[in-house]
Amino acid sequence: TEEQLAHSQRLEAVGQLTGGIAHDFNNLLTVISGSLQLLQMQCQDRPEAEALIASALRSSGRAAELTEKLLAFARRQRLSPCAVVPAQILRELDLMLHSTLDESVRLRIQCPEDLPAAYVDPTQLEAALLNLALNARDAMPRGGDLLIAAEERRTGARSASWAPAAGRYVVFSVIDTGHGMTPETLAHAVEPFFTTKGQGRGTGLGLSMIYGFVKQSGGHVQIDSRLGYGTRVELYLPVLRAGDAAPTAEPAGATAPAP
Ligand code: ADP
Repeated sequence: TEEQLAHSQRLEAVGQLTGGIAHDFNNLLTVISGSLQLLQMQCQDRPEAEALIASALRSSGRAAELTEKLLAFARRQRLSPCAVVPAQILRELDLMLHSTLDESVRLRIQCPEDLPAAYVDPTQLEAALLNLALNARDAMPRGGDLLIAAEERRTGARSASWAPAAGRYVVFSVIDTGHGMTPETLAHAVEPFFTTKGQGRGTGLGLSMIYGFVKQSGGHVQIDSRLGYGTRVELYLPVLRAGDAAPTAEPAGATAPAP
């Protein structure tokens, strides 16, 4: 169901965010408990101080257990890129959106069958596109047009710091005719926990998660929005190159991860 999808997306986002932090935090905890143990040895004749140190040690032990759990959780989120056929991913997305969007949203999917494969984690890509489609739906409470498209683009030498690096990309676009964003919202949209949706409706993790995943995949995210007109989000993902992984005709969910 949509609720389950939203929940698993939230978990993925939390996983990505915590993974990096948990690792550094664990190192700091090692320093803290090491210092406390040294201090404990120096305080053997002061029972009050010793009790406080023992309490601090117990807490840092618990914190270490917690970060270990977070790390274990985050490790499951590691990307497994493989050859992803754009038309195939979009067919699956089409099926998922069919049961999620109501008729007021006119969905169109455009994808040439002969696009090159992208080298990306199919599960994460599917989650990202779904997230973008749900954002588009949320921006069109009274309905509108939603176009999801894929095409190949070759980019030349980088013209500006925000432009993608030179290369061959499969570009996935999600374009809506919704309420759009103010320049202010657009400037903050990718920040973790930034949301304009009400309490309990938005997590503010969707775009930040997508941004992180695309960057990690060697790609680029481009967001354009005009208040009152709509929004276009483009995900540039690198085209599969010889030596990445063997192309595969398997459905996205069943593709083998790269070694
Ligand atoms: P959430 O959807 O939980 O709010 P996101 O990170 O996905 O978190 O989006 C952050 C914010 O960016 C949204 O709250 C909204 O203000 C804005 N936004 C995202 N996508 C769109 C869109 N398609 N149209 C208009 N605004 C959008």
